[in-house]
Amino acid sequence: MRRDGQMDSCTDRQTNGHCAAHQAKVSLHRPGQTDCHQTSRMLKTQEERVIELKEWEQRWMENRISFHKPQVHEMLASKIDKALAGRKGVRFFFPLCGKAVDMKWLADMGHSIVGVEISEKAIQQFFMENNLTYSEERIAALHGAKVFRNLEKNISLYNCDLYNLSTSVVGQFGAIWDRGSLVAINPRDREKYASTIVPLMANDCKYLLDTLLYNPEIYEGPPFLVPDEEVHLLFGERCNIELLHSKDSMMDVHRDLGFDYLTEHVFLLTLKSI
Ligand code: SAH
Repeated sequence: MRRDGQMDSCTDRQTNGHCAAHQAKVSLHRPGQTDCHQTSRMLKTQEERVIELKEWEQRWMENRISFHKPQVHEMLASKIDKALAGRKGVRFFFPLCGKAVDMKWLADMGHSIVGVEISEKAIQQFFMENNLTYSEERIAALHGAKVFRNLEKNISLYNCDLYNLSTSVVGQFGAIWDRGSLVAINPRDREKYASTIVPLMANDCKYLLDTLLYNPEIYEGPPFLVPDEEVHLLFGERCNIELLHSKDSMMDVHRDLGFDYLTEHVFLLTLKSI
């Protein structure tokens, strides 16, 4: 099993040269073929994994950021109409934003952006790589937290732990782009995550959630496996959930690592009217 956490670029191999899947002769279950028992067994494989915030900051320091994509995410670009629903000047939230170029793409279209990211280096790189100036200020209400802003493009990136954010600090949002976020947090924190995010949704919020399906006995994450059942368990009580798109995201690098499937799902979540 891989511990590296760099699914896109990991090249470490088991000492005898075979991938973990072949060694363990694990049976592989494709999404759609899983029953509840298999799903809970799959989740158990990763549920103890904990990545400390310091480790994330370290990854940025060492430039181990293969999750970063230099181009706008294909799923966001193809589903943007669902997120906008005909609205202009939408207030977007990017949980665990990294330096996603999607933020600049949306800001250029006239939307405003709020992100949260624990790595200050990531935030500074975002502004510098996009040729945006920024101001930096401490947030009195949150000990140790800072916000970096570009006023012209209306981009505010909070440098703190996501779980410290609340509506009193950031208000509510008309849209959320969740890529590399629910799949990146520690699996044991998922309920806390849902109860942090849902209050940030305005009544008309369109929450686009990107998840990954693969056999966790081959790769231990992050990004972690988030089965569809888990999305329903976490958000089903408060949100309507629609699977917008299911895509085979296997590339040669994944095949080389022993994956036999890697599927990406994009959901649209909207608040249920109470
Ligand atoms: N969404 C981005 C980054 C994904 S990687 C993208 O698609 O490129 C996950 C990011 O979340 C990392 O940059 C990491 O530093 C940050 N992170 C992890 N846990 C966090 C937390 N609890 N609060 C804020 N940021 C966090």
